[in-house]
Amino acid sequence: MSEHTEHRHVALVTGANKGIGRGVAEQLAALGMTVLVGARDVRRGEEAAASLRASGGDVHAIALDVTDLAVVRAAARHVEERFGRLDVLVNNAGITGSGQVSPQDAHDQVPSTVDLGMVREVFETNVFGVIAVTNAVLPLLRRSPAARIVNVSSHAASLALTSDPDGPFTALLPSAAYSPSKSALNALTVHYANELREDGILVNAVAPGFVDTDSNNHTGFLTVAQGAAVVVRLATLGADGPTAGFFAEDGPVPW
Ligand code: NAP
Repeated sequence: MSEHTEHRHVALVTGANKGIGRGVAEQLAALGMTVLVGARDVRRGEEAAASLRASGGDVHAIALDVTDLAVVRAAARHVEERFGRLDVLVNNAGITGSGQVSPQDAHDQVPSTVDLGMVREVFETNVFGVIAVTNAVLPLLRRSPAARIVNVSSHAASLALTSDPDGPFTALLPSAAYSPSKSALNALTVHYANELREDGILVNAVAPGFVDTDSNNHTGFLTVAQGAAVVVRLATLGADGPTAGFFAEDGPVPW
């Protein structure tokens, strides 16, 4: 995106009080954007925002539980009143459904024995929450000359990779919750991209890689900064950038 704009770009990152979202917030702030750190726990959001401000960023916390429609709408109103528009939305908030475990230990996701309530909870955050947040802020994104939406997905979302019996994910346990929720997020990405193509809003899904965070009990081998980099790249695409794509740091990921 051009640096020669009248206003700072305004970015909203959901689930940005820690992990990859926090890393994305830090990098977008370092690029000169005003960054809104969405957090379902306001205190944790304020702490993250304060620490990012301490390193020079224009960063503000915003209460945002993506599963609470009233809170989502209040957050959108707050952004409108304070900034009047939004340039970047990063739908990062997500849960595994199994708590803080490495994917190899998520036995409770195995399809034949999964708890349906857990599946619903995962979809509520990882899929329905994305629709809720995106639709609430879409009027504000439409006011941006170059809006970008990035949905934080996963390699585990890839039906091409996970259905390959000789593929890289054969070691992972089958999952009826997390992986299908991210496949659904990928599908949503394509349909939002198709709807918003005419408006110049670029919508892409990103696989950050296996990143060292609470969500996998710190078994990931990439740093948060490394995982955040591809998210930031898709959040700052030029006008000729792709839409309806699925990308990792090393290039497109097969759907
Ligand atoms: P994390 O450290 O556990 O961070 C997840 C963030 O999402 C936290 O800020 C969490 O808030 C927030 N969150 C959860 N439910 C929420 C809700 N209902 N409303 C608002 N915020 C909510 O995990 P992470 O690894 O950084 O994950 C970030 C994203 O990357 C997720 O979408 C995840 O699926 C994806 N991802 C991660 C990896 C990896 O290797 N780490 C790989 C592929 C994809 P609290 O602090 O309040 O819990």
